Order: sequence, then structure tokens, then C-alpha cells
Amino acid sequence: MKTEDKLNNLEVFEELESNVRGYIRGFPAKFVKSQGSMLWDETGKEYVDFFSGAGALNYGHNHPDLKQKLKDFIEKDGLAMSLDMATPQKEEFLLKFNESILKPRNMDYKVMFPGPTGTNSVETALKLARKLTGRHTIINFTNAYHGMTLGSLSVSGNKLSRSGAGVPLTNTNTMPYDNYFEDETDTSKYLEKMLADQSSAIEKPAAIIVETVQGQGGIKVAKDEWLKSIQDICRRYDIMFIVDDIQAGCGRVGTFFSFENIGLDPDIICISKSISGYGLPLALTLFKPELDIWEPGEHTGTFRGNTLAFVTAIETLKFWEDSSFEKSIIEKGKKTRAYLEKIAKKFPSLELEVRGRGLMNGIASPRRNFGEEVCKEAFKQGMIMDKCGPNGEVPKLFPPINIDDELLDKGLVILEKSIESYAFNQV
Ligand SMILES: *Cc1c(COP(=O)(O)O)cnc(C)c1O
Repeated sequence: MKTEDKLNNLEVFEELESNVRGYIRGFPAKFVKSQGSMLWDETGKEYVDFFSGAGALNYGHNHPDLKQKLKDFIEKDGLAMSLDMATPQKEEFLLKFNESILKPRNMDYKVMFPGPTGTNSVETALKLARKLTGRHTIINFTNAYHGMTLGSLSVSGNKLSRSGAGVPLTNTNTMPYDNYFEDETDTSKYLEKMLADQSSAIEKPAAIIVETVQGQGGIKVAKDEWLKSIQDICRRYDIMFIVDDIQAGCGRVGTFFSFENIGLDPDIICISKSISGYGLPLALTLFKPELDIWEPGEHTGTFRGNTLAFVTAIETLKFWEDSSFEKSIIEKGKKTRAYLEKIAKKFPSLELEVRGRGLMNGIASPRRNFGEEVCKEAFKQGMIMDKCGPNGEVPKLFPPINIDDELLDKGLVILEKSIESYAFNQV
């Protein structure tokens, strides 16, 4: 192969890597560099990042403060891997997470380190809820996304992923998420009726698991009142209330936890994706101290002491000590939705619907292949953006939460042009 032919050539991946690969298909290039809210491929083409590693890079790529701490730590031969033994970095993370995040929010939680990924945190939450209550079913919601291992998959909606399970996905009961019928129906009333009716054929569950904003499900924002009703039902029926904050948490919607301005007080919280802030794997399962009924070593895993991830996580927590950080996320979110509303008005024939909270936004259209085509065009024009929703109908705007205003504007213009190109090709 000539050098020019090798640039962005993906033959090796096609030949040697499983067909299961996904994002490489939407973003067909070889990426060599990333900084802040930008990526560069082998040809030197630059891309605005409206994806943030699916929410694992909320603070952008290679943040200089995080990178420096990481370099210092490696230079001193700190323990990169420690199972769950004690290290000063783990100690500092626990202290700082407690001091800067939990205490100021009046939250009292034990921190558990499950395996390093989001699905590990969800599995742990489900296991703990079952152990605590002695019940085995879990109530989940339509279009939910909680991960790919069997327990998490059993509470997730996606048809393609579920069909890959190979065994029946059992011990769950699915209820309609908020606004499932796109009318005034309060689906929490339906849920409660099913629990109250001893002969509804719905067993009393160990837990109800919910996302405050469904990410993969299509940027569906649940109403505060609805979420509070779900929590209230959990309290009255003695059911564990689990919030999966893996995607909506770590600042994505403008506050550290997605639910903190809503007045929710979950029994168990799942956190992962951006907790390390550097793209390094780390997950937490938080629960009320009185729920800590684990025996020592009862739930374990090799990779629970990713010290590199603790080092960068500690640095990200400092961002939250300055209240202007939250304000800037909210401002960028408002600006984004105003721009999306403008786009929606500009193309009435596409019947666009703007959805979102904070910097977790989307623009949906029922037109054929809308999400797919718009993201493809955006990629051509130099932007990384993914789609979501049951039919991939929602281009999902997920820039780093600290993106510069100029780059945010640039991304929004690329989105507008991509939608324009889609509309043009429809006629
Ligand atoms: C990504 C995600 C998960 C799964 O996390 P993995 O690290 O991919 O296992 C679970 N729940 C939500 C809401 C997510 O967005």
C-alpha cells in the first residue's frame, strides 16, 4: 500500500475485527489526536466533538490539568492497578467525593466500586436490591438503556441488543416511561395501580430502575413530578429506588447528579462514564449506609482499583467547587435548544421535535433515516455526532460540557447544514 492509501484505510478492522464493531461505521476514519472538543484523523481533517465518547468525556479530551496529574503519577511509579487494596489516590478520591460532591448536596451514601464499566454498576445495584428485599423481579421502563450484560440487558429495551441475549430475559416487568403515550396520561398512576391490585399479575419488585433522561432511548426527559411519583411509590410500597445516572450524571444536564434539583433521594445510584473524566474506566454504585449489607468480598472483580482513573477523577471534582461551572453548562444548554428550535421552525416539513435538558439534547424527526443521514452528513462536514432513539431517529447533541462557545456555535451550524442537506435530498 502507498502511504496515501493507508490514510484512513479501515481494511485491517474489516478483516481482523468482529462484525460487531459499531461506531467505526458511523465515523469511518483513523483518529490520531484529540484535544478539548476536537479530534483529528490521519489525513489531518479536524472534527468538532458532539459525541464526547458517548458521555465518557464530559470534560473533553486530554484535559491539561488531568493529563499533568496523570503524568506525574506515572512518573513516580504509583500503583496503576491495586484490585481493591488501599492507595493514597483511592483515599483522596473517597474523601474528595464525599467533601465536594456528597456533603454539599446533603447526601449520605456509601461508595462501592464494582467492576470498571457502567453495566457492572447496574448489575451490582440489581443484585443488592434483590439481596436486601428477598424479591426477584425488577420494574424497568420502556426504551430504557442500562447496559449489555444479562441483568442490565434484562432491564433494557433495545430490540437488537435484547435479541442477542440467547436466553430469556426474565424477572423483570416493564412499565411505560413518562410521556410514553405522548398525551396527558400519567403513567406513574398505571404503575401504582398494577402494584396496588393484588391480582394484576405483577409481582412486588425488589426495585424500580429509572433514568431521569433516557439517553439511548432518544433523549426522553421525564417530568420532575413523574420522577417524584415513582420515588413516592417506591417509598410507600417498600421498593428500592435505583437511579441509573451513568449517562445523565457527571454534569451532563448541568448539575453533578441529574436529579439533584428535582428533590429525588434514590436508595441506590449508578455512576460511571465520566466519573474519571479522562475516558479511563471507573464505575461507582452508591447506596444509603443502612443498605450496606454486603459480606466482605461477596461481590468482587479484578479491576476495581484503577488508580489512574482515581487520579483524574480527583481533578474533575475540583471543577464542581466553582458554582459558575454549573451555570455555564445550563447557559450552553439553553443556547443549544434555542438554536434547535430555530432549526425546527426552518424545516417544518421535517416535523422536528427538540428534546433535552442541560447539554443532553436531541432533535427528532419521523422522516425516513433522519438520524442516520444527518449524522453521516455531519461527519462529512467535520463533526462527530451519534444518533439515538428506538429507530435511530434522533441526532444526539453531546458536546463536552466545557466546550468553547465558538466550537459549540460551529457544531450547531454543521448540524443545521446537515439537516438542510437532508431536507434538500427529500424533495
Ligand atoms: C452507557 C450506559 C450504561 C452502560 O455502561 P457501559 O460502561 O457501556 O457498560 C448503563 N446505563 C446507561 C444509562 C448508560 O448510558
